Amino acid sequence: MNDVTIDAESRTSQVTAAMKGFAHEIGALSAFRLESCIHCGMCADACHYYIATEDPQYTPIWKVEPFKQAYKREASAFAPVFRWFGFKPAVTAEQLAQWQHLLFDSCNLCGRCSLICPIGIDVAALIEQARHAMFDAGLAPEELYRKAEHQQRTGQPEASLEPYREQLRGIGEQFGIPLPIDANEVEVMLCVPRTDIEHYPAAVAALGLVMQHLGVSHTFRSDALVAENYGYYAGGKEWQRAISLRLIEQAIACHAKVLLIPECGHAYTALRWEAADLYGKELPFKVMAVTEYLALALAEGRLRLGKADIGSVSFQDPCQLDRKGGVTEAPRTLMKAMGLDLREMENNRSFSFCCGGGGGVVDIERAAPLRYRTMEIKLREIDATDGGTFLTGCSDCRHSFDDAKRHFDWDKTPQSLLELVAKSLAPPRAAL
Ligand code: SF4
Ligand code: SF4
Repeated sequence: MNDVTIDAESRTSQVTAAMKGFAHEIGALSAFRLESCIHCGMCADACHYYIATEDPQYTPIWKVEPFKQAYKREASAFAPVFRWFGFKPAVTAEQLAQWQHLLFDSCNLCGRCSLICPIGIDVAALIEQARHAMFDAGLAPEELYRKAEHQQRTGQPEASLEPYREQLRGIGEQFGIPLPIDANEVEVMLCVPRTDIEHYPAAVAALGLVMQHLGVSHTFRSDALVAENYGYYAGGKEWQRAISLRLIEQAIACHAKVLLIPECGHAYTALRWEAADLYGKELPFKVMAVTEYLALALAEGRLRLGKADIGSVSFQDPCQLDRKGGVTEAPRTLMKAMGLDLREMENNRSFSFCCGGGGGVVDIERAAPLRYRTMEIKLREIDATDGGTFLTGCSDCRHSFDDAKRHFDWDKTPQSLLELVAKSLAPPRAAL
């Protein structure tokens, strides 16, 4: 929780201001969403937290209940009636503090509930807005708050012994692959998931290798290396904006036509769908996920792939790329081109379950026991496919599954689709 030292009186006025702000800023669309729920409960059956626990508190629409209360009291058509007769009491700091668990620890912002709602309520969008109010009330989880604050100030979510720029240079030298930094007049600007810098350097090298294969001018920018946006996770809208602006300004500075999002689902959402809104005007470049960029290059004959020769695979559809981004067939096109025998999970494409780590949940330490419980649904589905190799298109998913491997002593090791593409380039360019 941020601002832990704040006194009770200040906390109450902070909460009151945050809830009033939420009620007045949600806009007509969200107000309509809050008003139109018919309490059918179908979103509960879509959410892996409810499915795993059968605990009603994990019903997605219940997660925004205090915000519905605040909206009705402050901004709905009958707000004065709700206030005068006390039908909707003011949301208290204690009530909101209890909701921290529901809005952060037990929601991946995966959007499966939104997909299922029969009257089209985007519950995940409401939860995202509720996170903004939680942040304003000083109730973002400490881990997310700390990383968001550090990232908006320095560009990195955490200090590292060696700055990411130097680590990137080291990865280039280790793999013998050029990873240009701070070039100008390029076609494509690249960034990296911090997860790759810290855990999967071969995935960073793979990105450089495929760009080299495509012969497209490209660069990383040392002021905007990190793809993830911890402001988005924490609910800090101004910090989310500042972090997005770093990338936007650097893409403009090097005149990139494409800002390429690596294997990182939430980075794609933050930049593809939310950055222009926060920037205030249309972005002067395209934002593309690496899989959709590569599928396009394949269709144009610029990407040449040989057979991967690893037999059957299963594939984790990252929620933010598939369900929220529509990047569904691109990874399948790449897998087909490499001759892979894809064994689909029972819930695949837009209906795929989250890896359990999305929305910053993997960073919240106290959330781990519940996260493991929900992940069992996913692990069972993966095992049921009989796919020999398990592939992901998101570094955060990969990190979550690696963590599950350790926790459950699971016999699968998640692999990166991008790394597999780099290994299958024809003719082979280098070993990863
Ligand atoms: S966004 Fe995902 S995790 Fe959050 S409530 Fe909806 S289904 Fe559950
Ligand atoms: S599925 Fe939609 S209408 Fe039904 S309870 Fe959930 S939010 Fe309300």
